Amino acid sequence: MTATFVGMPAFPVAARAALADTQLRHNLAHATGTIRDKRARVVAEVDDWEDLRTAGAAIKDATLADLEQHLVELEANLTTQGAVVHWARDAEEANRIVADVAKSHALDEVVKVKSMVTQEIGLNEALAAEGIAAWETDLAELIVQLGDDLPSHILVPAIHRNRAEIRQIFLDRMAAAGRPPPEGLTDDPPELAAAARLHLREKFLRAKMAVSGANFAVAETGTLVVVESEGNGRMCLTLPDVLVSVVGIEKVVPTFADLDVFLRLLPRSSTGERMNPYTSTWTGVTPGDGPQEVHVVLLDNGRTRALADEVGRQALRCIRCSACLNVCPVYERVGGHAYGSVYPGPIGAILNPLMRGVGEDPQVDSLPYASSLCGACYEVCPVKIDIPAVLVDLRAQVVDAHRGGTPKLEAVAMKGAASTFASSKRLGFAERFARLGTGLARRLPIAAPWTGARDLPTGPVESFRAWWQRTDGGNNDG
Ligand code: SF4
Repeated sequence: MTATFVGMPAFPVAARAALADTQLRHNLAHATGTIRDKRARVVAEVDDWEDLRTAGAAIKDATLADLEQHLVELEANLTTQGAVVHWARDAEEANRIVADVAKSHALDEVVKVKSMVTQEIGLNEALAAEGIAAWETDLAELIVQLGDDLPSHILVPAIHRNRAEIRQIFLDRMAAAGRPPPEGLTDDPPELAAAARLHLREKFLRAKMAVSGANFAVAETGTLVVVESEGNGRMCLTLPDVLVSVVGIEKVVPTFADLDVFLRLLPRSSTGERMNPYTSTWTGVTPGDGPQEVHVVLLDNGRTRALADEVGRQALRCIRCSACLNVCPVYERVGGHAYGSVYPGPIGAILNPLMRGVGEDPQVDSLPYASSLCGACYEVCPVKIDIPAVLVDLRAQVVDAHRGGTPKLEAVAMKGAASTFASSKRLGFAERFARLGTGLARRLPIAAPWTGARDLPTGPVESFRAWWQRTDGGNNDG
């Protein structure tokens, strides 16, 4: 995949272009509507769904509050089980570690399990620069990669493509990447899936090294977990000799019992299934079975920055189910590319600014505004991330980051009001002149931009506290 999100325009510009694409809107409405309905049906079957959500949020919060200790425990148990643990501060360090492992075995290709985190760090591009081809093996990721495209959904990266477009991509690009599509390929989904299966099988059987992410990392045992639907992950995690897993530090869960909660929340929230078809777990190296060299790269890349944000740190609870994307009216109309990141939709609108910081990049600063604040994302989130509250807080951070220069009249007035309300003496003094002040303000041309769109009521003849004093709390009124 050579396409990149780097240099994408701010959300309003990108969204306008996306809205003009009627085919895209049709594809998105159909796909999100289908997944949304499936999710609603299977969630309604679970009586204790709300309790599960609360438990999921509580486990994540408790883990994040003690993250360092859980990570150290994870590292110790991984090491005991024969894995090599690496720590990466940022994308560059993580990419370097993966490339070095491949080069140490003189490899020029790796197979990949679908992983958001390796997209976040631009691993495929970094490996390509070192002469190493990274082959995506998830069907949707394969479509995106062959089409030189960008993912537009967390779970269904090619959600913006319909089957006719997918057929054309296979016909145009598959042969250059390996086994060509069968003669007479139609856009019948089973035929398209069979073409991808044959194409990928060659790669699975040839690969000496695989790269994965992890949905969860269990600290008490050093076990990594990948959940998936196609079985490609299982092939990558078991067939090659070398396995490198890049894991965001927020993926750690303390115990296997905690994992149980998330394995119940995730499939119903993401694919609308009661169970996901494949749950693969591995604990370091098992002699004679599976990869005999296992590396785990524990990645920060802005997560500790997000953790430091008191309101925003709840975003690190995210289990990447994508339910918030499927219910978001903004996402449904503009798709994922408009967010300019591998994390699109409501979670992307908070995660990107939290991990990258605000005030530097207009594209990142535009994301907290990419929402109607309708609250649908919060209602479906399996770990109860209050996305609207974080969005509002981030909007304030964006405004604060751009303060400076001559202060605006409104800002001065608000500062004055804050100071007045902070002191009973100052408030009493201001109340005496409120009627005169509001009358004057309505006539001042400088206030016209503000009063032009708002009512400025005339102050009362007598303030409440003056009335209270005069009447002894209402006892002598009249
Ligand atoms: S924010 Fe919640 S709903 Fe959205 S992807 Fe993350 S866990 Fe799923």
